[in-house]
Amino acid sequence: MTATDAASDRQLAAPVPPFATRVSAIGGSPIRSILAVTARPEIINFAGGLPAPELFDTEGIAAAFDDVLTHDARRALQYATTEGEPALREALAERTTARGLPTDADDVLVTTGSQQALSLLATALLEPGDTVLVESPCYLAALQAFGFAGARVIGVPCDDDGIDPAALDALVAEHRPKLLYTVPTFQNPTGRTLPAGRRAAVAEVAGRRGVWIVEDDPYGELRFEGERVPWIATYEGARDRTVLLGSFSKVMAPGLRLGWLRAPKELRRACAVAKQAADLHTPTVTQLAAARYLATCDLDAHVAEVAAVYGARRDAMLAGLPGALPEGSTWSRPEGGMFLWARLPDGHDATALLSRAVTHEVAYVPGAPFYAVTPDPATLRLCFVTQTEPEIGEGLRRLARALRPSEA
Ligand code: PMP
Repeated sequence: MTATDAASDRQLAAPVPPFATRVSAIGGSPIRSILAVTARPEIINFAGGLPAPELFDTEGIAAAFDDVLTHDARRALQYATTEGEPALREALAERTTARGLPTDADDVLVTTGSQQALSLLATALLEPGDTVLVESPCYLAALQAFGFAGARVIGVPCDDDGIDPAALDALVAEHRPKLLYTVPTFQNPTGRTLPAGRRAAVAEVAGRRGVWIVEDDPYGELRFEGERVPWIATYEGARDRTVLLGSFSKVMAPGLRLGWLRAPKELRRACAVAKQAADLHTPTVTQLAAARYLATCDLDAHVAEVAAVYGARRDAMLAGLPGALPEGSTWSRPEGGMFLWARLPDGHDATALLSRAVTHEVAYVPGAPFYAVTPDPATLRLCFVTQTEPEIGEGLRRLARALRPSEA
């Protein structure tokens, strides 16, 4: 062995530097771990957040891709601008304008799922130690995105109607947060919708106290009951400080990984710069196929069909819950979206009970991980859209055997 060989051996043996602390500090999603355990086909899985795959318009989407790859392949397979394909931005602006928020194509940044929009906003807005306010409980992967940016995340007290505006005002005064993150319509995980009056109050607080609002709306179009409520972004105080996030995941298909954000000019530019570093741009072929789909198919009619099926599935779940959960449990009654939130009586721990449910071949997500700070261990989230009505009935009978064993 020469001296050079020995030196290179020593180099090989030297430990590599450690990962960034944020990796161990944030960890993986507990829901993804639960999904791995509950993926066995015999388990009726209310845990995932999966849109019903049998309702995807596979023919329409295939035809749109086919059309683009047949007639516009060179463009579809080429690099594109970070902001997104003009045809898609135009179509998204039109849809947003038609829903009461005047929008130009230039106001829109296409993202790789709305999840990317959350990361871009965290990069563009947050310094380590900055405070972010979220709903309590909150969409889990938003907690991850803000956590990775080193933010201090605080939960705003919520009731059955969502954010309590007076509590929000007090927290903003005390903690001077940079942003409030909210899913005001058919929230994940609770299914709750913030009423118009509270939206106006939230907008007023943000306007008066100077806070960004991130209004995440992946579920709003999936309404099967009641009247549409205007976006917070449409209210006076919030207009120049609200970022609206949209997604094709729940209305078309999540595998497309296609979302968008609508933000004031300077913030949109900052997000575009962050996106250059993340992935340069969202896949061109997917953007053009989505634009082609919007031009040639009736997305609204498709969404109406999906919502009708989801409404029937919600009804099946509401019908079975009284017999499935222990006496004294409560649950939300969402008018749209995909999730329902339940609370078992005091003293129950939904995390501890999950293994019993899995033994009975049914699964849900315990509510605890959705809380930024202090979890309520008695809560759980049920997704009511992935199973058919008979499967929902059977799943709830299994849940009854797990959670009400004395009656079995
Ligand atoms: N926001 C919320 C509230 C969600 O529930 C989800 C998906 N579960 C996302 C954002 C991310 O959606 P996507 O990246 O698929 O658009």
